[in-house]
Amino acid sequence: MSKPYYITTPLYYVNDKPHIGHAYTNILCDTFARFHRFMGENVFFLTGTDEHGEKIDKTARAKGVDTQTFVDSMVPRFKELWAKLGIQYDFYIRTTDEDHKKSVQVILQKLFEKGDIYLGKYKGWYCTPCESFWTKMQLVEGKCPDCKRDVQEIFEDNYFFKLSKYQDWLIEYIEKNPDFIFPESRRNEILGFLKQPLEDLCISRPRTRLAWGIDIPFSKDHVVYVWFDALSNYISAIGYPGNMEEFELLWPANLHMVGKDILRQHTVYWPIMLKALDLEMPGTVFAHGWWTMEGAKVSKSVGNVVDPLELSAKYGVDTFRYFLLREVTLGSDGAYSEDLLIERFNKDLANDLGNLVLRTTSMLERYFGGKIKCVNSGPSKLKDQAFISRDAMIQAMKHFDPRAAISAIWDLIVAANRYVEETKPWALAKEKKIEELGKVLSDLLESVRFSGMMLAPFLPETSVKICGLFGSHPTPTVKDLDVWGVLKPGMTVQKGEALFPRIEEPKS
Ligand SMILES: [Zn+2]
Repeated sequence: MSKPYYITTPLYYVNDKPHIGHAYTNILCDTFARFHRFMGENVFFLTGTDEHGEKIDKTARAKGVDTQTFVDSMVPRFKELWAKLGIQYDFYIRTTDEDHKKSVQVILQKLFEKGDIYLGKYKGWYCTPCESFWTKMQLVEGKCPDCKRDVQEIFEDNYFFKLSKYQDWLIEYIEKNPDFIFPESRRNEILGFLKQPLEDLCISRPRTRLAWGIDIPFSKDHVVYVWFDALSNYISAIGYPGNMEEFELLWPANLHMVGKDILRQHTVYWPIMLKALDLEMPGTVFAHGWWTMEGAKVSKSVGNVVDPLELSAKYGVDTFRYFLLREVTLGSDGAYSEDLLIERFNKDLANDLGNLVLRTTSMLERYFGGKIKCVNSGPSKLKDQAFISRDAMIQAMKHFDPRAAISAIWDLIVAANRYVEETKPWALAKEKKIEELGKVLSDLLESVRFSGMMLAPFLPETSVKICGLFGSHPTPTVKDLDVWGVLKPGMTVQKGEALFPRIEEPKS
């Protein structure tokens, strides 16, 4: 068996319900996972939840419930959202899983025995809402650089991981591997960060301050720092070290999709952890941007939450996916607004795609009783466009650009709509040019069929509906895009429903 394409989301922190930022990351990963399946590859898609740490413990206590009970109650909210959004993950890891805890302990023990973990004195500034320690240099006007809140100065005995030992290696690795960090601006950001001496990472918390964490095997007084715990999931979930056969099949990960706010953990701490364990590096860490509303990051700490469940229920899962994938280039920030979503919906989904499907299948029904009359065996500009779109879509996805991929599919959809205006099938029908009408409609329907298949990774529900009109396979692969001209005289194409009925006014 060839190595599956292994793709991961970050683990989501369970102390609040999921928001649009979580949905965005999982929709991106789901799109890439579907694309690689579409390309005929095996895929292993991992997501899950990060369930340890001070913030979760505090939230549970504030609610007056046992911490384990609290995290158990939060996990279904994430799983429910992923089910509603059609996220096809292969495994869901929880950092409270016994296998994960054991794995983290083995990792710690190995690094401790190797001398890469040592006991030291910790002096630093801690931001509780962010679960982040900061050095004095990192503070902004004495406050947390991420959330601008007050920080507490802390002195304590803790264990440290020797990041400094691997700094030169890491810089060289990033420089020699241009595909390791995307987009390039983030790669430069990390290389810039690495120009300063790297401080060793404090990877423990005293049990007196925090008991809700994984036990450190060589100290009864400490638990593991939540980031060290969470990052290990990418290998613990696939069998490290308990099932090395599975691990060796899947590792290294091909793509770690992360938000730009957790880039440093994934491109400094994580590769050094792997290097210290003598494991291979992941292929790519891609840092996506944030969704903002009126300029502020959408997150629970700011409070301007856009509920992805509500949005997808109101406008449909594919509309929500389409908006997030099409509105911004992967890596950039996006401004979310319901008006923008409605605008995209009406223009792209209703006018372009929905209209094309409805008008072409309706004309076939009206003029030929829903059966293909004849086919065009001569030159066809829609055929040419279909193959250009297919190749551009594939290239764009290989370059982590779902927006350009969708845009390439739309080139075919727009060309087909234009072809309707140019050829005027209604006039051909009136003039009884039956042969020509039959050829025009077969080219148009072939374009609809092609578009429907290409949309599979991006708009899965819509793709299934369009493929269904032709009686074709609901999960097409790239091989199906080798052939233009599958439609033959006498074949039936069902009349499509209105896939995206126009939204006249914002629904309230
Ligand atoms: Zn903070």
